[in-house]
Amino acid sequence: MNVELITIGDELLLGFTIDTNAAHLARTLASIGVSIVRRATVGDDAAEIAQAVREALDRTGAVITTGGLGPTSDDRTRPAIAELFGRDLVPDEERWDALCALWRERGRGEIPLSNRGQIMIPRGATVLTNRHGTAPGIWLEDEGGRWCAMLPGVPREMRGMLADELLPRLQGRFDAAFTVVRSRTIRTTGIAESKLADVLGPLASGVDGLSLAYLPGQEGVDLRLTSRGRGGIEADEALNQAASQLRELISRYAYGEDGTDLAATILQACEARALHIAVAESCTGGLLGARLTAIPGSSSVVLGGVIAYSNDVKRGVLGVQQETLDAHGAVSEQVAIEMAAGVRRLVGAEVGMSITGVAGPGGGTADKPVGLVWIGVDVQGTVRTHGSRFIGDRAEIRFRSTQAALDILRRML
Ligand code: AMP
Ligand code: MG
Repeated sequence: MNVELITIGDELLLGFTIDTNAAHLARTLASIGVSIVRRATVGDDAAEIAQAVREALDRTGAVITTGGLGPTSDDRTRPAIAELFGRDLVPDEERWDALCALWRERGRGEIPLSNRGQIMIPRGATVLTNRHGTAPGIWLEDEGGRWCAMLPGVPREMRGMLADELLPRLQGRFDAAFTVVRSRTIRTTGIAESKLADVLGPLASGVDGLSLAYLPGQEGVDLRLTSRGRGGIEADEALNQAASQLRELISRYAYGEDGTDLAATILQACEARALHIAVAESCTGGLLGARLTAIPGSSSVVLGGVIAYSNDVKRGVLGVQQETLDAHGAVSEQVAIEMAAGVRRLVGAEVGMSITGVAGPGGGTADKPVGLVWIGVDVQGTVRTHGSRFIGDRAEIRFRSTQAALDILRRML
């Protein structure tokens, strides 16, 4: 089934807010077989809103809007669309009482009268309950079955209402025969996309009628399989099968699926082996520790670390030898080795991870250019090192360094 989407808000037109609602709606609706066939954005202007919705109803007969449902005078979606459907707005006093109670409950005092705008419901409309905020959503349908669903603009509220109210309603409108668009992503790191394609060989351009997209980013290359034209169950089966086929071929590089963070994969692997991690970071200044500790439950694996930015700290705290610094410089394989061993000893962990490099934009030399990073991983005395020349700006070089360090440990485990 086809729908049109209209996102509403001056902030979207002016570029102050990125239209994440449109992206989220498109992805989510595709997974139940609903395609957004056209997308428009209009400002907080009743005439513009009405015109955009009228045109979309004439073309497709099915419209979703987001934004402009709030209590303030710049929120014009509800009256504009009510008028278009020829409905007047009637106050929903029960909803008003509930809203007043909610305000008192949250200790906000008396509710401002301007909030009454939010309980004005077009006659004959169905209210879409908002469990994540105050503005209710609205479903309006005319005698010919043409409909417009109005969702709030705040992304968290919009996503909640979509899942709670709109998806079940849309699913209820069709039978099971419709087809869906579904995807599965396999995450890889430490390999270029062209090499990945070589390794995949005959599967490089798709598996079993599923398309395959290569999506390179700072974390590595994501491989996204997409199924179109199948029913939901059939699509899931095809994706499962294709994903395991691909993973078998690229198991050296694949660390997870969909939204998985490599740091989470590492924590699981360490926990399973009763290993604890200590980090010694120079150019990443704590980013590796931050990524690891961002994962819930990390405290059972991560013990601590040292931000050894200066040579004094590398020497004084981690025990890096002055001779090593003199002979090889702070950004070197030897210093990375001593940092990893030093932090492991200092913290009392089985695993020591170290990163030392030139993050730029200044500080590069002919033999130590910007982007040069040495990583050391010491697992109970077994040491693996890796020197890389990362590309990108300071933030990218730092992030890529943490990803590479995590990947070395992943391979060692
Ligand atoms: P509104 O419901 O129009 O009052 O929007 C409330 C807030 O939600 C705005 O200030 C924006 O920050 C955000 N917002 C509105 N529309 C979108 C959208 N399409 N994508 C992302 N954020 C949005
Ligand atoms: Mg707005």
